[in-house]
Amino acid sequence: MSSKPENATQEFADEEGEQFVRTPRRTPMACLFCRGRKLKCDGRSICANCLRRSISCVYEPVGKS
Ligand SMILES: [Zn+2]
Ligand SMILES: [Zn+2]
Repeated sequence: MSSKPENATQEFADEEGEQFVRTPRRTPMACLFCRGRKLKCDGRSICANCLRRSISCVYEPVGKS
């Protein structure tokens, strides 16, 4: 007689689905002028720096690649 020990199948109920919590990187939107001069940009349509100099505030569209 072969006695087979019944292995109780262990239930791994703790199936943790891998949650990729992507922290949204907030890239500070700075206009070209502020970028070039490394100024703190407001991020407005016309930032303060450009407004002072009365120049066109241009934002480079963030594109892939
Ligand atoms: Zn700016
Ligand atoms: Zn600007």
